[in-house]
Amino acid sequence: MPERIYNFAAGPCTLPLEALKKAQAEFVNFENAGMSLFEMSHRGKIYDKVHMDCMQLVRDVYELPETHKVLFIGGGATLQFTMIPMNFLAPGSFAEYINTGTWATKAYNDAKLIGDAREIATGKPNEFMTIPKDFKVDPKAAYLHLTTNNTIKGTELHKLPETNGVPIFADMSSDFMSRKVDWSRIGLAYGGIQKNLGPAGMSLVIIRNDILEKARTDIPSYLRYDLHASKDSMYNTPPMFQIYMMKLVLEWVRDNGGLEGMDKRADERSNIVYKAIDDNSTYFRCPVNREDRSRMNVCFRLPSEELEAKFVAEALAAGMNGLKGHRSVGGCRSSLYNAMPIEGAETLAAFMVDFMKKNPA
Ligand code: PMP
Repeated sequence: MPERIYNFAAGPCTLPLEALKKAQAEFVNFENAGMSLFEMSHRGKIYDKVHMDCMQLVRDVYELPETHKVLFIGGGATLQFTMIPMNFLAPGSFAEYINTGTWATKAYNDAKLIGDAREIATGKPNEFMTIPKDFKVDPKAAYLHLTTNNTIKGTELHKLPETNGVPIFADMSSDFMSRKVDWSRIGLAYGGIQKNLGPAGMSLVIIRNDILEKARTDIPSYLRYDLHASKDSMYNTPPMFQIYMMKLVLEWVRDNGGLEGMDKRADERSNIVYKAIDDNSTYFRCPVNREDRSRMNVCFRLPSEELEAKFVAEALAAGMNGLKGHRSVGGCRSSLYNAMPIEGAETLAAFMVDFMKKNPA
């Protein structure tokens, strides 16, 4: 194996090489302190600077207005499926959910256990290959929950829906920081950081101040957004490694064109792979409704499952891993997150055409 291969896995996934190298160089002896950052107190000056710098970078890169607060919360996006309704779905209120796939279903099912969560639209009848757009949000709803990118099905919401003034609560796990966000529409955005931002195990949560003020305070402490917010996400020992790595990744994002750079490259990469599919449509097929295609997770089928297995195995031998589709849907999936170089998409596209020629259906 070469030192680095193209990693098309859906998360955990490829991270910027510069960030990995910097972490490697300063892992054992951080800032000449004679110890690793991860052996230090999280209350000390050195860690505090890393923590606050990372928070500021989130604000700068995402162009966050003062109306919103940044939180780092240990536990993946799955914990947020519970925290959201615990905080904002008090008895007597209700929230609406758009169901666009596996993770959206999980978010909805967890919310139902806690309060009055209502599914107002679902893509289930056509296996989530289309994102439902025809729904009306009840202005009395506490929030509208949606998933901006559906990692498993390969669909993405390219425009936030009209919501009758209801704040949008968005799971952005798999397209975080890949484009600008109209923050005036967002009450709460969250995601596990293990795709575009860093290693697994932590969520980045961005919450509007007036929403934060409505968070419940009569629930267990770790689940209280207000407590995390009032302590700048240091209510308990924070996930220091995740925060440190996210800071390095965000520095890389900032130095590589910021969100405009990420957005432009997301277009370029996904266009390259979709073109390889569409130009060879007697062999490759993307099952997703065209206007809902994801720029982060490009899903495609080959003429048979046998050819798909062969494709995945030969791609791995050629230095491209993670191309097997999620076990629940099969097929192939190439995840093209921020850190995937354009050459990765080009190498994959060339390999696809070559494979097709050598392996007729
Ligand atoms: N939401 C989406 C869109 C995801 O892709 C994932 C993980 N792949 C999750 C939520 C769950 O995240 P975690 O594993 O960090 O709990």
